[in-house]
Amino acid sequence: MKVAQISKPGGEFEIVEREVPKPGVRQVRIKVQACGICHSDALTKDGAWQGIQYPRVPGHEIAGVIDEVGADVSAWRLGQRVGVGWHGGHDGTCRECRRGDFRNCENVKIPGISYDGGYQQYMVAPVEALAAIPESLSAVEAAPLLCAGITTYNALRHSGAMPGDLIAVEGVGGLGHLGIQFANKFGYKVVAIGRGADNATLAKKLGASVYIDSTAANASEELQKLGGAQVILATAPSSKAMSELINGLGPNGKLIVIGAAFDPIEVAPVQLILGNRSVQGWAAGTPADSEDTLNFSELSGVRPMIETYPLEKAAEGYARMIGGHARFRVVLTM
Ligand SMILES: [Zn+2]
Ligand SMILES: [Zn+2]
Repeated sequence: MKVAQISKPGGEFEIVEREVPKPGVRQVRIKVQACGICHSDALTKDGAWQGIQYPRVPGHEIAGVIDEVGADVSAWRLGQRVGVGWHGGHDGTCRECRRGDFRNCENVKIPGISYDGGYQQYMVAPVEALAAIPESLSAVEAAPLLCAGITTYNALRHSGAMPGDLIAVEGVGGLGHLGIQFANKFGYKVVAIGRGADNATLAKKLGASVYIDSTAANASEELQKLGGAQVILATAPSSKAMSELINGLGPNGKLIVIGAAFDPIEVAPVQLILGNRSVQGWAAGTPADSEDTLNFSELSGVRPMIETYPLEKAAEGYARMIGGHARFRVVLTM
């Protein structure tokens, strides 16, 4: 089978031939049909995740079909369409797992980091990482929903916002274009915040009723004119842009951070105290959350906007994503 691997931190993609792997106990083998390229794949490419072993096959937005079932697997069958997202397995025995909080498992596994991910024709995954893909979603549509989709969907549905509330989505990109759609389908009044006037038409088509160009107006002031945001979903990985938005929150408003940046967000304690505002992070979710995301997307018509590349052109697809040129998610097809 063909594999796109990274053989050292900072190394280039190599297309190599490997033996098709065999699934072990409580594992299945997936014939991969599509795998999204996510910004977090840089952790594998650049070796930024501690303890990562090379060579490693990146990819945690995987959609395919179960092609072989290992021993001791009861709930999944041959030929079933499945996806694997960021949550690639948990031990079931640590303190957090025993509390049912599998997302925060001490030994959580991530496909493409802890074991080989989806930039290959076949992969092996543990059963606790699997999500069923509904019939009418194609593999290329499902793949980005397993990381970018679940992250925006899950962050919004747990935000405490109610239908009719003012919700701002900062960034009209890989995460943001999905966040706007979910927010609209959840019944919120959606404000999209982007850089430049170019994204206004698209943001409105995706379900925003207001578009704020943050290069032309003070986005916080504009949000306050609308009554202040109940939730701001910060998707663009810019700590500066996030800091500037905190004053756009209304009473009890919450800035939910999902754009992974490394520099600090600046906030004065009084900004949070006055109005009971908060800043919260959110990471993807469990495979059950993935299934909810896929089923809701099927039901409501939320779809990622994608560009596809064949597996052999993984390097080209990755460069397009990391350069910020993708409109909006790059998906590899096998
Ligand atoms: Zn991701
Ligand atoms: Zn655990």
